[in-house]
Amino acid sequence: MFDRNAVVIHSSVNFFHLIGTHAMNYRHIYHAGNFADCLKHIILTRILSYLQKKDKAYFVLDTHAGIGQYDLSSEEAQKTGEWQNGIGRLLAMDKAAIPPAIHASLSDYLSIIERLNPTENTENSLRLYPGSPKLVEQMARPIDRALFIEKHPADAETLMYTMGRNRQLHVRQDDGWQALRADLPPKERRGMVLVDPPFEEPDEYVRMVDAFLQGYRRWATGIYCLWYPIKARRDVDDAAEILANSGIENVLRAELIIHKLDTAKRLNGTGLFIINPPYTLHDELKQLLPFLANVFGQDARRSSLEWISPAQ
Ligand code: SAM
Repeated sequence: MFDRNAVVIHSSVNFFHLIGTHAMNYRHIYHAGNFADCLKHIILTRILSYLQKKDKAYFVLDTHAGIGQYDLSSEEAQKTGEWQNGIGRLLAMDKAAIPPAIHASLSDYLSIIERLNPTENTENSLRLYPGSPKLVEQMARPIDRALFIEKHPADAETLMYTMGRNRQLHVRQDDGWQALRADLPPKERRGMVLVDPPFEEPDEYVRMVDAFLQGYRRWATGIYCLWYPIKARRDVDDAAEILANSGIENVLRAELIIHKLDTAKRLNGTGLFIINPPYTLHDELKQLLPFLANVFGQDARRSSLEWISPAQ
């Protein structure tokens, strides 16, 4: 069914499209389900599961939401085949060989993928891969609320269509950086923010940390996940240094490296800065990251987990 609301909003943003998004070339469909998506999405489900331990409602702000779910049989996804070395590898594993603690950490994530792909869950039957909005939607209870921001008009329209009308899970075509200032703190006073920009610009690492600091000033008790690609080490380390010097406590950094860091043009690894992580997450990631490094690793299989600044 076509969402009439989406059509109205789309036509009203076409002018904005012309003046404001000319440089938006990034399309997540080429990368959906790759190892970096897997890490980000597993961590997202772990945080949501933790938030559900209380009966109280939570709020999720997804500042760079994408289109919600991805067809891995599409020409774009097939062209890069990135998902095959990500979710493809994870699903191809013999479930019996996965240690129980790891299995528990993956179970929400994998069951959502299984639900979206109702036939037998093998690499060959995998077609739909959930993006962050779909994962949030699938885990949300009726009391929970989410706001998905997507700047690209066509992608925002697709996302509105995918998510349908839902007063609790709202899609807005807007600038995600702006939302960190305008939409925090949420009335629920508990929840998380996912910041997952396309990294099309070289200064995106520092920009992400700056934008986060603006959000944090408004809402210091939220859980924040800032995702980043690892190509050249230096860009990431600059961002980590700003965070370390910000005076903010309780900042965890989790990374996976699947290629030697000798070619800066390639996606060699991925990581997240997690601010105010659930107290259980550090110990969980300590087991999970080396496991994932082995699953996804190519000419390198490394992981690291460190407190940039611990909780006092
Ligand atoms: N978070 C999504 C997920 O996990 O499924 C993937 C998001 S993708 C990496 C980045 C998205 O950000 C793209 O869809 C892109 O169009 C969008 N985007 C780029 N600049 C933006 C901005 N300033 N504000 C909001 N969205 C933006």
